[in-house]
Amino acid sequence: MKLLEYEAKALLDTYSVAVPDGRIIKSRDDEVKTPTVIKSQVPTGGRGKAGGVVKVATSNELTDVIERLFKLPIKGHLPRTLLAEELLDIDQEYYLSLLINRQAESIDLLAHREGGIDIEAHDVSEFLRLPIDQNSIDSAADSLAELYDLPEQTFALADLLENLLRAFVKEDMTLLEINPLVLTTQNTLVAADAKIELDNSAEFRHPEWSGYENQPTSANFVTLNPKGSVATIANGAGLAMATVDGVAAASLTAANFLDVGGAATSESLARNFDEIMKLGRVEAIIINIFGGIVRCDVVAEAIIAARQARPNLPQLLIRLSGNGSERAAEILSEHDLTNYASLADIITEIRS
Ligand code: GDP
Ligand code: MN
Repeated sequence: MKLLEYEAKALLDTYSVAVPDGRIIKSRDDEVKTPTVIKSQVPTGGRGKAGGVVKVATSNELTDVIERLFKLPIKGHLPRTLLAEELLDIDQEYYLSLLINRQAESIDLLAHREGGIDIEAHDVSEFLRLPIDQNSIDSAADSLAELYDLPEQTFALADLLENLLRAFVKEDMTLLEINPLVLTTQNTLVAADAKIELDNSAEFRHPEWSGYENQPTSANFVTLNPKGSVATIANGAGLAMATVDGVAAASLTAANFLDVGGAATSESLARNFDEIMKLGRVEAIIINIFGGIVRCDVVAEAIIAARQARPNLPQLLIRLSGNGSERAAEILSEHDLTNYASLADIITEIRS
């Protein structure tokens, strides 16, 4: 599960990692002090380049910026939350992350002297990478101080590494990335951006995770081809396989396999839509549900609700058959959607 920046920073704050003062914005009327920097809270990087990080000098620009950011999709994601933060006086920006090294069964420290929005442009060989644990924090801090050319910050870096490592282990993270780690003109080190990924298999010991905005997709979501043009949502493994086969038989490429089981709620559909939109090349989503225990009209309502907040959703091709399908067809047609009689009809529609 990926945390949003504001969730990641709130968590790091509890581990004594310095983060900018900030507050979240849920609507255009929320009060914000200026000057400030407003940041779109979407589960993807590259917000700076996409216009999702905006400095606001005076209060009269504020409402415009907030409204614009709520409407600006970034890599297919619309934010439900914005983060307003104090401006930082940035002297330097560095890159710092902790991640799991599965081969070595260690936690690795990965760092680069130049952080910021172009980190992907650097070759892997330019990064400092070393395993880190409680016993090697001081030597890792020495290496980091040398890499950043900040000998006077060695103790502060050791402190930071210790706090980050503690957070990483206790909170069951698989990735903790600070980019940029900012050295302010007041010579303090601040996590200006934070990205955290949590280990889904540790969810059972973290009841508090259910409060995070981007819940993980179902374990039954399998990406088949990230460049595929048709995504599939079905219930029951058999029907899900038949749906993927139907796509392939029509010489189209299925992007994914998904068996939603009995849980086709608007929340689960919304999550699955988001996962599908991350794939990037999907032009149509087939929803093929047989209403046995689950009722088709309930699924139809869920589809409409999940679609509402997602204006950039690809075309939906829906076949709801079985229990409640007549009412489902009515609900869909009220929203300009068709309930196709069969998968074959959907395939014909896609190919035409
Ligand atoms: P990302 O593009 O999604 O990684 O978003 P970031 O939060 O990393 O922001 C991108 C860039 O905006 C950073 O590298 C900084 O250069 C700049 N930035 C972010 N916050 C501040 C801030 O408070 N003050 C200033 N001056 N620049 C900021
Ligand atoms: Mn960043």
